[in-house]
Amino acid sequence: MAAVPKTRRSHRKVRTRRAHWQTSSVRAHECPHCHELRLPHRVCPHCGFYKGTRAVEVKSEEE
Ligand SMILES: [Zn+2]
Repeated sequence: MAAVPKTRRSHRKVRTRRAHWQTSSVRAHECPHCHELRLPHRVCPHCGFYKGTRAVEVKSEEE
């Protein structure tokens, strides 16, 4: 079986499907260490922590 589309999708179907990634509310997560907003699965830019351990050094951590 070849993966060939049986019917052509309309522009509206395509645009509606592609609009859904914007509606997800998980664009930012709260850091468990400093409770600032950070991106999920990324090192926190505020405290440099990831999974409870220091991953990178942050310059301005005196604040
Ligand atoms: Zn943090």
